[in-house]
Amino acid sequence: MSEKNTKNRLELDTPLQFVKGVGPKLATVFKKSSLFTVHDFINRFPRGYKDNRILSSLGDIIPNQSVIVSADIIKKSIIPLRGRNKKIYEIILGDGFHSVSCKFFKIPYRNWFNSLRVGERVELRGKAVLYRNRIEFHHPQIFPASPEEHTSEKDLILALYSEMEQISQNKIRSIMKEIFSRLKLSETELEWLPDWLKKKYHLISRLKALKGVHFPDTNRIDDYLNFKTEAQKRLIFDEFFELQFYFALKNQGWKLGKAPKIPIDRTAILKMEKSLPFSLTSAQKKVLEVIFSDLSSPHPMHRLIQGDVGCGKTVVALMSALVCAKAGYQTAIMAPTEILAHQHYKNAHRFLEPFGLKVEKLTGKMKSSEKRTVTAVLKSGFCHVCIGTHALIQENIQFHNLAFVIVDEQHRFGAHQRALLKSKGGQPHFLVMTATPIPRTLSLAIYGDLEVSVIDKLPPGRQAITTKRVFPKKRKEVFDFLKEQVQKGRQAYVVYPLVEESENFDLKNAVDQYEKLKSYYKDLKWGLLTGRMNPEEKQQTMDRFLKGDIQVLVSTTVIEVGVDAPNANVMVIEHAERFGLSQLHQLRGRVGRSSHKSYCIIVLGDHFSKEASERAYIMQNTSDGFKIAEKDLEIRGPGEFLGSRQSGLPSFKIAHLIRDSEILSLAKKAAFDLVSMDPQLEKPEHQFIKHKFKELSESIRPG
Ligand code: ADP
Ligand code: MG
Repeated sequence: MSEKNTKNRLELDTPLQFVKGVGPKLATVFKKSSLFTVHDFINRFPRGYKDNRILSSLGDIIPNQSVIVSADIIKKSIIPLRGRNKKIYEIILGDGFHSVSCKFFKIPYRNWFNSLRVGERVELRGKAVLYRNRIEFHHPQIFPASPEEHTSEKDLILALYSEMEQISQNKIRSIMKEIFSRLKLSETELEWLPDWLKKKYHLISRLKALKGVHFPDTNRIDDYLNFKTEAQKRLIFDEFFELQFYFALKNQGWKLGKAPKIPIDRTAILKMEKSLPFSLTSAQKKVLEVIFSDLSSPHPMHRLIQGDVGCGKTVVALMSALVCAKAGYQTAIMAPTEILAHQHYKNAHRFLEPFGLKVEKLTGKMKSSEKRTVTAVLKSGFCHVCIGTHALIQENIQFHNLAFVIVDEQHRFGAHQRALLKSKGGQPHFLVMTATPIPRTLSLAIYGDLEVSVIDKLPPGRQAITTKRVFPKKRKEVFDFLKEQVQKGRQAYVVYPLVEESENFDLKNAVDQYEKLKSYYKDLKWGLLTGRMNPEEKQQTMDRFLKGDIQVLVSTTVIEVGVDAPNANVMVIEHAERFGLSQLHQLRGRVGRSSHKSYCIIVLGDHFSKEASERAYIMQNTSDGFKIAEKDLEIRGPGEFLGSRQSGLPSFKIAHLIRDSEILSLAKKAAFDLVSMDPQLEKPEHQFIKHKFKELSESIRPG
């Protein structure tokens, strides 16, 4: 094909360089953003839209209504707040007739403020508030009004693309126009979903959707801004569908897979129930029955147990392990820390050995000779239940007949680590537990392949934990209160954030504070637990705390997960501004584990942001872990919310887990429907999907 020809008629695989208006230089810039062909370019969706509707005038602004105004910066100032190490950043905008103040209590970064110049024309978006009878804006959005956009003001709505070096938005738009005018595509060419599915879920064709997002319709501006048009819905659906289809295939693979059928020994269960110092809650019983029914099926279980901290997941795990052991199979339980592994080991030992079962522990820091012994008994099958840390997934660890894998605090492990442990048993039953509640929308997205059960009740007799947010000058009162509680026979935790050596010396850290507190409150018995201590020291300290030899345990966040010391009823969290909501909730979950009234005191440091104080406030007013997780998600957004605990969630181009949660549910249903209707993807209308997922489905299906 001659170059001239190529320029006239575009194909999906035409290199961008041959598109009129691009050329080699621009093509190089696009390559840096992974845009090589026409196909790549049309699949780069706008990140948002610019609303060019008639702007309000400064004089028309009324409180609590969203406005867009264009005005000039007439003054900038930084106002220090008296007595506090804080500032207000103020920008005054004017249009010749009126002026209005915009206040920022926090700015995204310093340069942002510096980069705005007095005299500059900007665009302001936000809701005004009334403060001391004057209209002002708090944290509005302020954009430089670029001259480029003003020339095309006739378009009431414009697609906005992510920045690529110096390429203007207008340029990207015009290339997109050029491409679509020269690209002769039929509706079917880009389509991969079958007609029945599109009809059932009211989806437009992919081609229409692409045109729709790149060339927005001026009659639907609000829908575009809110991502509620059919075009956006279709592309969002596609992204979710891809993920859910992957889950559906995995799920199907497991359903077809074979795992040992475990007979349920009801006598043993009853006997263990009787040996417990409490009776099981109805929520625990319900989940146990579900697990028993999974275990007694010939296909591997894949289940996630979610339950707020302290709801009693451990005993559920141990009773399931008992059933498996009584049937003659091995169970492995993996926990994220040595302390937690040891705690589980002690419980397992206590409740399972009366059945003549052999329980072992395997952690990385054990003596090599001990490790060797455990390794040998695991392989010979002379051990029924083994509890350990990451040490369990080491290459040299082999099991005799591992049929059941339990992962506690599963979010602390990577997907790869969980898979490694599973692989030691062929296709074992698989149970994962988490005390980090995840809002339903997110659990659909992340755990799409697992079945989820929730322990939705706490054991009876637990009193609500009183939570208080405290400012630094009240620290003395906090510790006097702690002392009072300890003298009544209770125990307490004092937690400090991890402090790097390079950090600000104003931050209180566990080691220094332990010394200070110990010398100040001499009549209390203090203990120190940090991640730096060796496992034996840690264990000894923990044991002494459990026995009551230590009354107050000063610690870093090593005690965050799982630790169970029911007599402790006071949790003091220092520098709480450094902890996220879910982490605060986890820490609080260390108390309130008995019928003693419990307290969680959240002490803020000298410098904290508005959000940190808000987090503390939420903690003070909310005890439900799911509600807290939802707030956390709202505040931080899914990326960061999951970032700290979960890898493996794809980043979406257009879909948004919270905003589009309804579409997510639909996509899940569609994907699972499709797989159960045509498991081998044999129907002609499913060939596009089959092709798209070829490698994936082959790697997942059991051979
Ligand atoms: P988590 O779900 O956070 O792992 P644990 O399994 O550590 O919770 O249990 C928390 C505490 O509650 C433990 O001391 C445990 O013995 C106790 N517990 C568990 N189930 C019950 C119950 N049904 N009634 C009373 N206490 C219970
Ligand atoms: Mg636990």
